[in-house]
Amino acid sequence: MKRVVAVLFVIVFVLIVGTVLLEGQASDDRNAGNISSNKNSNSISPRKESHNIEKKSDVLLEGKTIAIDPGHGGRDGGTTGLVHGTNEKELNLKVAKNIRDELQVKTGAKVILTREDNNSLLGGTNPKAELQARIDLAKGHDADLFISIHHDAFEDKTVHGITTHYGKNKSMSDKKLAECIQNAIFKQDVKTRDRGVKESDYMVLRESTVPAVLLELGFTSNADDEKRMNSASFQDKSKKGIVEGIIEYFES
Ligand SMILES: [Zn+2]
Repeated sequence: MKRVVAVLFVIVFVLIVGTVLLEGQASDDRNAGNISSNKNSNSISPRKESHNIEKKSDVLLEGKTIAIDPGHGGRDGGTTGLVHGTNEKELNLKVAKNIRDELQVKTGAKVILTREDNNSLLGGTNPKAELQARIDLAKGHDADLFISIHHDAFEDKTVHGITTHYGKNKSMSDKKLAECIQNAIFKQDVKTRDRGVKESDYMVLRESTVPAVLLELGFTSNADDEKRMNSASFQDKSKKGIVEGIIEYFES
């Protein structure tokens, strides 16, 4: 009987020790689980923090509308290149579309063109009505700026370079816009003469109700200028410069 009691005692002892040991192991496992879940939460929290502090980058010129006016069109072809036969209305359209594409890549601005092809806007022969229709189109779209694209010509074939015109008796905004664009074009290292900004009495500048400039991106009457204005390299630099200038105008 004493042996039976002794055996029972041993069994109970073993069960108690076993239970204590198992409990300890389970507790370790839980702690280990806690640590690993802490590790998980640690590894999540930096992402949460970076998400919280992540700043939504502002889209440049969001809410602005830019009217780009490719000068001439239809029967009015503008100037003609003396050496390469450059057709001004076609080149103006190409440059205007380059600027539109660059604005759409770099900014959130809405862009409108006063003509999308080589026809004039009205299809008529009244130049004054045509220009007024372009100004009215920009006004109808609540445009913030009016940018007219041209290429010049002159009797003296040595005359060359780039000029940005702003309207006579207009606000300081027009002059500021002209300076921003002219400076930004020449920051692109374009190899021609910087003729500066000029106050001029062009109808699109005078009649525009918003800040307006008219760019003459070179002389089709000068052989070097004509070659440059048709090159992909210059067209790339001019679109970048003009868009940089527009951004600079709004940001400064
Ligand atoms: Zn022109």
